[in-house]
Amino acid sequence: MKFADLHLHTHFSDGTFSPEELAGHGRRLGFAALALTDHDSVEGCARMAEVCGAAGIEFISGTELTAEHNDTELHLLGYLVDTQNEKLLANLARFQAVRQNRIREMVAHLNELNVPLQVESVFALANCKSPGRPHVARALVKAGLCKSLDEAFERFLKKNRPAWVPKAKMSALEGIELIHQAGGLAVMAHPGLNRTDDVIPALVEAGLDGLECFHTKHSTATSGHYLEIAGKFHLLVTGGSDCHGFSKGKPLIGTVKLPYERVEKLKQAAASRRSSLVTRH
Ligand code: AMP
Ligand code: FE
Ligand code: FE
Ligand code: ZN
Repeated sequence: MKFADLHLHTHFSDGTFSPEELAGHGRRLGFAALALTDHDSVEGCARMAEVCGAAGIEFISGTELTAEHNDTELHLLGYLVDTQNEKLLANLARFQAVRQNRIREMVAHLNELNVPLQVESVFALANCKSPGRPHVARALVKAGLCKSLDEAFERFLKKNRPAWVPKAKMSALEGIELIHQAGGLAVMAHPGLNRTDDVIPALVEAGLDGLECFHTKHSTATSGHYLEIAGKFHLLVTGGSDCHGFSKGKPLIGTVKLPYERVEKLKQAAASRRSSLVTRH
């Protein structure tokens, strides 16, 4: 049997692994295919494609967009996108700037709370264009201002805690369109975590291609529930570990093994979407 992990992060967003380390783990675990899905970024894809190639692993380009629909936050996985697509890159740059400004605001709140964290230390630690709260948490621990990442989130960074700042997000409809025009497929990430069942019909109407039915944090019952919804709406089925490296305890790569037939279906769907894009122009 061949397997894939279609949800992975590197240090190009809030993961700790380099593409080399991630591909190394993928090879050790015997994966036939891996997708890179860094938050609001495709920056790591070129290097990941290269190292996967050298390791004999098929690489699927991807990103994980932070989006919203009717005030519900959801994450959209964009698979097989053209990572050079200009409109995609322009929009990713826009949301990377949002992330960087949000870091500045969160650090300003911390400073008002007499927590002397320096914003430069967060940017130096993140060392990427798409920083997020995990980088602030790691910088707080590194500076000795919090004992653990959990403490940093519990005291300051969780939603509605004193240093939390809401994040401007693109609309899910805009996200789906952005992925499609870049030649990719739009898949709702970990629907069981965001409790997004209510918005699925509207997103299917807007062209949603698939559901991430298998995820580390989905129970067997939850996966079954989303497999049923995917069947009902004729959606593709994907799955992945959402591994962030060592940032949240033990690396998760290996905990979800998606049968390779699902990857074949994904590739077929992308090819037929692209050919219909071409004939429409
Ligand atoms: P951001 O995109 O900046 O809002 O950060 C979201 C990231 O923070 C995701 O990768 C989450 O898994 C992580 N995160 C959110 N809440 C917590 C928490 N309580 N403890 C640890 N990580 C968290
Ligand atoms: Fe993350
Ligand atoms: Fe996510
Ligand atoms: Zn993720």
